[in-house]
Amino acid sequence: MLNRKKSRIIIVGANFAGLTAAAKLSKSHDVTVIDSRQNFQWTPNIHEILSNVKKESALSLNLETIITKLGHRFINQTVSSINGDLQAVTLDDKQVLNYDALLIASGHTRSNYDIKGADKYAYGFRSADDVLQIHNNIEVLLATNNGKNSSNERPIHINIIGGGFTGVEVLGELLRKYATNKQLHFTVIDSASRLVQALPEKLSDDILEQCKGYQAQFQFNRKITEVKKSSIHFDDKQSTKSDLTIWTAGSKLPDYLDSINTEGSVSGLAVNAYLQTNEFDNIFVAGDSASLAKSLPKQASIALDMGPHAARNITRFLAGKSLDRFKFKSKPVLLSLGDINTYFVQGKLVLASPMLAAAKEAVYQFYMARLSTLLPFEQSAFGLASRVTLSTEKLLLAEILKLRPRVLIGRSKVL
Ligand SMILES: Cc1cc2nc3c(=O)[nH]c(=O)nc-3n(C[C@H](O)[C@H](O)[C@H](O)COP(=O)(O)OP(=O)(O)OC[C@H]3O[C@@H](n4cnc5c(N)ncnc54)[C@H](O)[C@@H]3O)c2cc1C
Repeated sequence: MLNRKKSRIIIVGANFAGLTAAAKLSKSHDVTVIDSRQNFQWTPNIHEILSNVKKESALSLNLETIITKLGHRFINQTVSSINGDLQAVTLDDKQVLNYDALLIASGHTRSNYDIKGADKYAYGFRSADDVLQIHNNIEVLLATNNGKNSSNERPIHINIIGGGFTGVEVLGELLRKYATNKQLHFTVIDSASRLVQALPEKLSDDILEQCKGYQAQFQFNRKITEVKKSSIHFDDKQSTKSDLTIWTAGSKLPDYLDSINTEGSVSGLAVNAYLQTNEFDNIFVAGDSASLAKSLPKQASIALDMGPHAARNITRFLAGKSLDRFKFKSKPVLLSLGDINTYFVQGKLVLASPMLAAAKEAVYQFYMARLSTLLPFEQSAFGLASRVTLSTEKLLLAEILKLRPRVLIGRSKVL
């Protein structure tokens, strides 16, 4: 057990894993939480900003307020490096903070796979700000494309790089908003031979089937070599026009962790079953940044389990007690294809139904409401009002009521 009166715990990253860990740590420790963002962000629904179903404000909660209410200290800065031997983190302003125990919960960042021009000309899709930028740029493209008569309109090509979970949800949301706008042409491009490779093939087949009749195309087995301002280039020397390129293709561990990423994995920092790094027993990792012996999907639902577990183990570690193993519970995935359909996937089971949109919305409402209980009443009530009015109207009720019963039942099935 340490002699100092209060042991110092630092948490880097205050989203799913970091914030839920902070909520589990008692004030008897000196807890500092650091995040480059001012707000917690509900990432799984940011694609809905594209179609105006959600506003950025409904997906965000102020971190300073929540963390202060928990009795901890919040620093709105970026950590630039970690020194495990000196037990120190360095911030962007060169300030150095020491810890007795450190929790790394800084998630993943965008990966461009070293493809030329990708960082400059393709828009990322990792935060609400990214999505707002895409939303606004599509509106600008449409506004500048509209001639006085329809013969002046040229097609606008929007390419989504990556046909994984995010790429599909982005396409669905764009079709929700622009299905009737025939100027817009959407193409999903992937190096794999189908959509959502991590999930059953029948899901990919159904999404392709559902998208027939919309202005959506798919290009598989394509290897991109370069992204330019208005085009995308492939290894077979062909190219395609692109007025706007959206990058959903991959993610990796943030670069600032390189110094302690001794195994050099892009997936995560290697941790044991207690979520401790192999090299430093006082550094714990939770959420997307962690890489256990058995690789786990990068999901918010798993980060929400890992954060509190890491906090409990940090408390036990500082008290000199034995640690508990993290037990992974498999979580279902809810994937939305705009207002076309929503899918529930658990293992090999795939259910499809527009009514599942309400389930996805309920998960978001439930967690945001739980986290908001930490906010002062007026902010919490304001947030609730904006979340419920917009989303209830646009998702919970509208999606269900606007479909005729025959369509609703027709689109509901076990795949
Ligand atoms: C578009 C999209 C859709 C998704 N949909 C789903 C879904 O439907 N269901 C699901 O379960 N999962 C979904 N996910 C995955 C889910 O968002 C992640 O698994 C989850 O966010 C991981 O939580 P985390 O706390 O580990 O990291 P994050 O949520 O990424 O949080 C990391 C935090 O660390 C901060 N940070 C990073 N680097 C630093 C630094 N150097 N200094 C200070 N702060 C730093 C960041 O600002 C951020 O607040 C989606 C992800 C995306 C991008």
